[in-house]
Amino acid sequence: MRSRLVLASALVAFGAPAVAAAQQPVDSAYTARIRELTPTDSVWKFTTELVDHLPASATVPSPLKVLGYVPGTIGRLAYVEELNRYLRAVDAASPRVKVFSLGLSDEGREMLAVAIADSATIARLDDYRAMAAKLADPRSTTPTERARLVKEAKPIYWLTGSIHSPETGSPEMLMELAYRLAVEESDFVKDIRDHVITLITPVTEVDGRDRAVDAAKLSRSLGLGPQGVSLTYWGKYTAHDNNRDGMVLSQKLTQHVMDGFVYWRPTVMHDLHESVAFLHTSTGTGPYNDEFDPIVIDEWHTLAYQEITELTKRGLPGVWTHGFYDGWAPNYMLAIANLHNSIGRFYETYTSMNADCQVTNLPASATTRTWDRPSPPVNGIKWCIRSNINYQESGVLTALKYVADHADTFLENFALKAERQVNKGKTTAPYAFVIPRGQRRAAEAADLVNLFRQHATEVQVASKDFTVKGASAKDAPVQVKAGDWIVRMDQPYTQTARTLLAIQHFKPDDPSPYDDTGWTIDELRHVTTLKIADPAVLRAPMAPLTNDATVSGAIAGNGSVLLVPHLGDWRSAVLPWKAGRAKVSVADTAFSAGGSNYDRGTFIVENADAPARDAIVALGLGATAVSSLPTVRKHAVTAPRVALVHSWIETQNEGWIRYAFDRMGVPYTYVADQKLVQPRALEKFDVVVLPHINGAATTIVNGRPMVGPAIPWKTTALTPNLGKIDQTDDTRPGMGFAGLAALRAFVERGGLLVTEGNSSRVPIEFGLVPTVSVAPQQKLLARGGIYRAQLMLGSSPIAYGYERTTFPLYFNQAPLLNVQGGQRNQREGVDTAVTNAIERQRARTIVRWVPKADDLLVSGLLDNGDEMAGRAVVVDAPLGRGHVVLFGTRPRWRWESQGAFALMLNAMSNWNALDVNER
Ligand SMILES: [Zn+2]
Repeated sequence: MRSRLVLASALVAFGAPAVAAAQQPVDSAYTARIRELTPTDSVWKFTTELVDHLPASATVPSPLKVLGYVPGTIGRLAYVEELNRYLRAVDAASPRVKVFSLGLSDEGREMLAVAIADSATIARLDDYRAMAAKLADPRSTTPTERARLVKEAKPIYWLTGSIHSPETGSPEMLMELAYRLAVEESDFVKDIRDHVITLITPVTEVDGRDRAVDAAKLSRSLGLGPQGVSLTYWGKYTAHDNNRDGMVLSQKLTQHVMDGFVYWRPTVMHDLHESVAFLHTSTGTGPYNDEFDPIVIDEWHTLAYQEITELTKRGLPGVWTHGFYDGWAPNYMLAIANLHNSIGRFYETYTSMNADCQVTNLPASATTRTWDRPSPPVNGIKWCIRSNINYQESGVLTALKYVADHADTFLENFALKAERQVNKGKTTAPYAFVIPRGQRRAAEAADLVNLFRQHATEVQVASKDFTVKGASAKDAPVQVKAGDWIVRMDQPYTQTARTLLAIQHFKPDDPSPYDDTGWTIDELRHVTTLKIADPAVLRAPMAPLTNDATVSGAIAGNGSVLLVPHLGDWRSAVLPWKAGRAKVSVADTAFSAGGSNYDRGTFIVENADAPARDAIVALGLGATAVSSLPTVRKHAVTAPRVALVHSWIETQNEGWIRYAFDRMGVPYTYVADQKLVQPRALEKFDVVVLPHINGAATTIVNGRPMVGPAIPWKTTALTPNLGKIDQTDDTRPGMGFAGLAALRAFVERGGLLVTEGNSSRVPIEFGLVPTVSVAPQQKLLARGGIYRAQLMLGSSPIAYGYERTTFPLYFNQAPLLNVQGGQRNQREGVDTAVTNAIERQRARTIVRWVPKADDLLVSGLLDNGDEMAGRAVVVDAPLGRGHVVLFGTRPRWRWESQGAFALMLNAMSNWNALDVNER
């Protein structure tokens, strides 16, 4: 019998304590330790009968037996190797447990998915996976078969721990949960084991976990308490943003989870976070993403209310829902579930403080009773890591039990959501998206096709030319060419394509956005897609794309000189880095050769040997070989020597730039800002990139306050996982005034400094670029969206390849740049030599936001846009013999904003020729 809900409720109602303990002996040493570690209070409870004991097992080892401690022990956190070793020991001892590898991290640590169910189910896991896959695709089942599968299949409930490395409790809890689910013989746990397949990933960010354990140890050894060392690096590239990769799947951990999703087709994914008191179970404030099925939103609420009721009636304070986040941006890891007809949900529980205790002292905003928080968290109680573990584990057990008791309903909804997607695609526009292959940035378009394939969305290829009707009678018909890519909407996994290609409308009076408000990916990446409103497209000639899309370049004609047009994408812009021994120049005006016209920015490649030719083809670029050099003004470009400067304040944002450089194959030297003070630190570089760093310009320059002891970040016996990416004896100092002076001297003698986002405040506020300022703003709302920019100086090499006069760019609220004076050469009647001398030092606006506020918004939120309209966004400011190029935008935003990539690469490769057209 599947439904035991009535029985379980009755037991609780009669106040029966540990249901489990009656039939099964407890592990008394372990249980005693749990009770010691759990704080007590005269009014409130911080544990439940579900987790206040541990059943004994003669065969399956507890965490205490394998690792020597009980989760929740003060000062003790498990490394990834320990977590994985423990779970493999449980697998070896129990026929109810099977460990699967999800893959390795960037640094070679293993991510696991541990399946737990009754032994008969574990023996037939492949069958259950196959059933889940059939339910996930209504096109593969008849109604009769589906009804049978809903009875026979089991919901798969996937728990993921510690994607956020400073949130340290969930891996500890998940070890104990694995044991409990494997051995406990209470009806409560037996129901879960018989009716649900629980999957446990103890740590999602495995590299960051080991660093977090080290940092906690270091902090204690320095006498700074458990949290005195901030975790500068988490994963190799991303910190908190590892949970903003759910749309673009760029990081290994997200890729492994996506692949795991397709392997398992989980019914529920539940991600464990620790930043809100005491247990916030997700639903959110809204607005919810337009593509989330109303059924999934109901499922969030059903599960959340179940947890609130069950934990509140057991005496736990501060369990609540709504509030906290919005549910709008689908960039969180759990969006993988919500965009694939599954349920994606999360907890925020209260911090473990790296395995310690505290007396709660929360602000009034966290402890007042509100409509969505009738049982608020309380102050003045002792809260320990074991409190966090008890809350998480009790909540998760409640959710698992509810899903076990309503397995048919959850599986029916799972199949129904998929069917609703297929039917929606058959009955309402858009019926398909077409991604033309013949477009200017075809390789970028192919990347988008492959992103959809990563999301398990099927892509087709048009096998013949055909025409379909436009969106309305007055719209022109849409011509589709053979070879164009087509994403049909009559398939189960369409939400990712729908939301990535939709325009987002976030209203100014909606609740405050939690993250980005607009993410329309074809706009961000400057790719053309076509929305098809004619259902005839579903009958058009096409065949499935069975491998990733590729666009290989071509070299036409014969001759030793290659002419390679700049397409305004990163693949064109990296050519100077890829050309090897060939001599690369860039045309500074338009020209004709061999009967064809070429725009300025076209690469002229001499002595193109086989490697250079191969590189051009591999980049997907089109070249024409001619026998002699064209007559055109040009300048030589070589790959610059690049210093990527990072701060020890935070590496979240430079990490994305580092990732992009690595992925594009742009070499750089990674330099800590505090090293700029060393003699001749910048002598061997042509370009310095200072990525976005949060905080005031003074903070960026000064670093952390020089109070307390030096805080090292090094590989030592105590901290074997720190260091690695970079290391220092003391993370507190920044570049200081001496570093700033070194940067200034570097530019004055001819170098290029590129600043991005908030770091553009540094050269402005410290006077390196006196004609540039940060424009004031008061009421602007432009929160992480896409806005229309206008090209102001197409003759600057920074803009080479950008063929449009306006194009979309990502922007998030600040900074808006203001450039004094006008454009160069705009004033007449003054002595030319004097003018030139003055003008050479005046900053130039290369790109600005369009001047009319009504034209600004492309996708997302905008209010009071008049504060933003017409402000500069890319500025080239000469200084001495060099330049500072300031970006008010984020040209490397989370592997999303590829349309802006070439602006930064162009600046870098033309570092010594930025005013080539201004002389
Ligand atoms: Zn978190």
